[in-house]
Amino acid sequence: MTNEVQNVIIIGSGPAGLTAAVYAARANLRPLLIEGAQAGGQLMITTEVENYPGFPDGIQGPQLILEMKKQAERFETTFLTGDVTSVDLSKRPFTLVVDGERTYQARTLIICSGARAKLLGIESESRLMGHGVSACATCDGFFFRGKEVFVVGGGDTAIEEANFLTRFSPQVTVIHRRDKLRASKIMQDKAFRNPKIKFVWDTEVSDILGEGTVTGAVLKNLKSGETSQTHIEGVFIAIGHEPNTALFKGQIDLDDRGYIKTQPGTSYTNIPGVFAAGDVQDPTYRQAITAAGTGCMAAIDAERFLESLESGEGH
Ligand code: NAP
Repeated sequence: MTNEVQNVIIIGSGPAGLTAAVYAARANLRPLLIEGAQAGGQLMITTEVENYPGFPDGIQGPQLILEMKKQAERFETTFLTGDVTSVDLSKRPFTLVVDGERTYQARTLIICSGARAKLLGIESESRLMGHGVSACATCDGFFFRGKEVFVVGGGDTAIEEANFLTRFSPQVTVIHRRDKLRASKIMQDKAFRNPKIKFVWDTEVSDILGEGTVTGAVLKNLKSGETSQTHIEGVFIAIGHEPNTALFKGQIDLDDRGYIKTQPGTSYTNIPGVFAAGDVQDPTYRQAITAAGTGCMAAIDAERFLESLESGEGH
């Protein structure tokens, strides 16, 4: 165990974690940032980002992360490569174990461990991610202007993404594994009324074809067992998201989908001194810019909390 108790430990190195680091470092808190299993977060599997303010010509996801990281380093954030494998939030200072062996302690903790899109689990899907396969229509829809695309899933996300994609795509086909949508009635009605949306029922995508970029997909009818190959240029996987909160289960309040609950308008969790920012507490917006914004909030909240401890007002 390191003897030093950190002022702030930030878990996660996506836009929320890196923004929290910039703010905490500029407040002289000398934050320690633990990068996590997928350093850089979801932007590392995104290609071009065109909706992050300040980059009028767009920027590649990994490049945006690199720029944010440089900015956090400039103000003396310490970066630690590794994954937090256990935490004890029952008393302050909080204790964290990294990679099962190194132990750290912190007066405040900012959780920015993010979320991940659920994926189908086929090899071609990860190989072509960012090259025709996407898990975010808001991020990538624009790149499919004039191209026909598939959306996989039957929940609100899939139907919302299908509707959104019709702004760019002449034909959006929703591929759903059952013959009924899970999405809310109002979203379903909107999709059924949209002439650009077509449905293929009782069907799964069993393979995505293409070398450098998506050129087609293999569909399997789950009732008849028949497979067919079809030409397509984009596949949006919209089968839900999972917050990365397994580590905190039983120690911090989570909502019924596993997202960390924060007090509205703040980054405060139910545990004094523990703050959450980014997708780990946001099932709704899930954008790099909203993650960065809440990362800023969390650093300011942590700074004020530390000040209140010093002045003896802390809980
Ligand atoms: P969801 O409601 O869990 O739906 C996931 C969909 O993906 C289901 O249709 C499911 O099929 C399908 N699916 C799951 N695993 C699959 C797999 N391995 N292969 C193929 N299909 C698979 O997730 P969501 O749509 O992301 O919504 C999550 C929550 O956010 C919901 O509460 C939703 O109401 C809410 N939300 C609301 C809005 C809105 O109101 N504007 C927008 C987005 C999300 P089955 O139906 O067969 O299980």
